[in-house]
Amino acid sequence: MNELNAFVTRETVDPGEEGALSGATVAVKDNISTRNLRTTCGSAMLAEYVPPYDATVVERLLGAGATVVGKTNMDEFGMGTTTETSAFGPTRNPADPDRVPGGSSGGSAAAVAAGEADLALGSDTGGSIRCPAAFCGVVGIKPTYGLVSRYGLVAYANSLEQIGPFAPTVAEAAELLDVIAGVDERDATTRAPRREGESYAAAASGDVEGLSIGVPAELVEGADERVIETFETALSELEAEGASIEEVSLDSLSYAVEAYYVIAMSEASSNLARFDGVRYGPATESDGNWNEAFAAVREAGFGEEVKRRILLGTYALSAGYHEKYYEKAQDARAWIAEDFDSALSEVDVLASPTMPVLPPRLGESLEDPLRMYLIDANTVPVNLANLPAISVPAGEAEGLPVGLQLIGPAFGEETIIRAASALA
Ligand code: GLN
Repeated sequence: MNELNAFVTRETVDPGEEGALSGATVAVKDNISTRNLRTTCGSAMLAEYVPPYDATVVERLLGAGATVVGKTNMDEFGMGTTTETSAFGPTRNPADPDRVPGGSSGGSAAAVAAGEADLALGSDTGGSIRCPAAFCGVVGIKPTYGLVSRYGLVAYANSLEQIGPFAPTVAEAAELLDVIAGVDERDATTRAPRREGESYAAAASGDVEGLSIGVPAELVEGADERVIETFETALSELEAEGASIEEVSLDSLSYAVEAYYVIAMSEASSNLARFDGVRYGPATESDGNWNEAFAAVREAGFGEEVKRRILLGTYALSAGYHEKYYEKAQDARAWIAEDFDSALSEVDVLASPTMPVLPPRLGESLEDPLRMYLIDANTVPVNLANLPAISVPAGEAEGLPVGLQLIGPAFGEETIIRAASALA
């Protein structure tokens, strides 16, 4: 099944130990550091980069007995929604090879959907786990900010991103979350919300009796009719099993895409400054002129989308524009977080289609970056508010997978896992 191009590097790392994941194969997104195993971030800049250490999540996987089977393809540095911005070529969707698998963790989702790995890890800055999970018909969880260590994750936009699991079922995704979650002294943003002896896997009971689900009108309006129909059928299934459904409204959500892209690009422009041909990246011929050498390696090493974001992010942070863009985006972020807080004080979880569209055909969205940014409308608000969310298969439309997203309160992973487990 090489033609899917789900992996940038296929290499097996055997676990040193026995544990909860003994016998399971896990594919790891290529922006998560693996000791002695090439980690490219989907970029020509890091085509030869071999990290000297494992990310905390990789240590935990191997410590739990999992076998790593390779590093998965992704949009360059996580910047994209289709896995087409990779320097290693696009990944195809196992449900329809003419379509994209979603992104940026498209390789991880495709590997699990095609059975090339039992489980996978991805990262989600603005939807990069949930989008490909939805498009490939598997389960993906974006944990609450601070639940999973980011040590060893190559940063795109630190204040927004988390590593999280992919699996065929909610219960298996929860088992993988049990292994990777928890405090890490090497990431000061990590927290330990679980009480002794609790497990996320145990929450996957399928019992939604008495659960209240709010559906934000802003996240349904404007979606593809076929997506809405599949979403509503899945909601009625949850209702038939004892959940109650009500419509809610969060006015702030209409500003989420704009706020997200200003913040994500600003952080990216700063994070990617380290790729300068000295610390990272191929060395170039130069006559000692630092500016020229720096420009040459970045010209050759970065793709078009990454360059666009560095330019826009640098602009948004520059003197004179900082207040106009970056600070406004931070205000919108705070408003969105408040809106979610008040909605989630009325209902247990919020539900929406994960993606407002069916998986695009290969090549379709590359010509129009703005249109590509807009299809992130339902996923980016969750990262801006630091909340947990899961994408679970809701059914199919025209033979293509449709995902249902459930959003919970901070560290409310148990609740979204319980609700989602009624569907898959
Ligand atoms: N599509 C969004 C972006 O391009 C989200 C990507 C991600 O979560 N890494 O920024």
